[in-house]
Amino acid sequence: MQDEDALREVAKDCVHCGFCLPACPTYQLWAEEMDSPRGRIYLVNQILDGASLSATAATHFDRCLGCMACMTACPSGVQYDQLIEAARVWTEEARSPAAAADGPAATRTVRDRAARAAIFSLFPYPRRLRTLTAPLRAVQRTGLDRRLARSSLPDRVSPVLGAALRLAPPGVSAAAARRLPERVPALGTRRAVVGMLTGCVQSVFFPQVNAATARVLAAEGCDVIIPRGQGCCGALSLHSGREAEAADFARRTIALFEQAGVDAVVINSAGCGSAMKEYERLLARADGGWAERAAEMSGKVRDLAEFLAEMGPVARRHPLPVTAAYHDACHLAHAQRITRQPRDLLRAIPELTLVEVPDAGTCCGSAGVYNLLQPEAAGELGARKAESVRATGAPLLISANPGCSLQIASALAARGEHITVAHTAEVLDASIRGRPLWDRPLPP
Ligand code: SF4
Ligand code: SF4
Repeated sequence: MQDEDALREVAKDCVHCGFCLPACPTYQLWAEEMDSPRGRIYLVNQILDGASLSATAATHFDRCLGCMACMTACPSGVQYDQLIEAARVWTEEARSPAAAADGPAATRTVRDRAARAAIFSLFPYPRRLRTLTAPLRAVQRTGLDRRLARSSLPDRVSPVLGAALRLAPPGVSAAAARRLPERVPALGTRRAVVGMLTGCVQSVFFPQVNAATARVLAAEGCDVIIPRGQGCCGALSLHSGREAEAADFARRTIALFEQAGVDAVVINSAGCGSAMKEYERLLARADGGWAERAAEMSGKVRDLAEFLAEMGPVARRHPLPVTAAYHDACHLAHAQRITRQPRDLLRAIPELTLVEVPDAGTCCGSAGVYNLLQPEAAGELGARKAESVRATGAPLLISANPGCSLQIASALAARGEHITVAHTAEVLDASIRGRPLWDRPLPP
């Protein structure tokens, strides 16, 4: 339940200066005021003043990536995240089939509803997601996925299906998919006991990132607790206006990590870290009984780079002679304001040269499930990001969010180009262990 007085106070901070407009990816795409942060704040204000949510306003809210670049750009400190979260809840409620009969916000099409139902009954559940991997691998082995992705057939069935095929990650090796132990002991003197979130997409499609994260933390003197029975942290639901569902996931995650008795909970996926830092606000709204526990949990959540920078790295780094471009995931750079720490950690690797991606602050179009639900806009943003990445000339791209890695790799593949994409944890791990990334030599 949104506190409308609190939202009015937030919206009042906007002085309509427009400084946020050039930073907004949807304004960059369409140059429409209502597809800018200022325009969306205007729409929020209308609703707070008693207007019904129109179909047009709902569409402008749906088109927002939630990248929070506007918050970084805003000189008045407008907490746009709170406004768009409320707008998403209103949109979900107003566009539900039950509400459509008596409201002006047109309900979603059957195809859109089916796509959303499929996404939200699959992605937050690692076990269900894992059952898809075997048929996906079979299709990839035959090359059918690439042929289908090049044809218009999947897009004609559903644009979501077309986008999903283009984004599907390559196979995961059996070694990488092996389950992590519940406890990975610190190497040398123990400096902290930390919990590790394994995530949904990360654990199924990027298990090697979780393994690398655990090794890096252990090498830096952490006992790493990886509780069994982890599910979704609620990020996808929270960022899509499904507040009750997000609160359920949050309560479950909080209870699990409370039992683990850890000093900090370390997250290697930008969107998950950002959502878990929001637990305090989410449960204060959705379930007052959990507000205190949620606040305590949010206070323990750290992104991997943030945590390592706070601890001060001690593990020896071996040279990694490569030029790498660093991609700022929006939920790390804008939502959590973490930009310096991963760069400092990477620059500390001997012989690694870090280069910047032009227009680093602009979203790649991934944005949770945005690239599935808004494939056209996401495709254009992905193509622009691929162009920027290519302009760096770097053979390696480092990103701290699984969605961004898939989105940029897919956009590069669409141009017939391929570069190695790795997570910050994998690069640190390779340097600490003195091994090439994925035991595969990098191009010079
Ligand atoms: S959100 Fe901030 S930057 Fe954008 S118009 Fe309002 S005050 Fe200006
Ligand atoms: S969150 Fe991103 S897409 Fe949405 S208004 Fe802000 S800058 Fe634009």
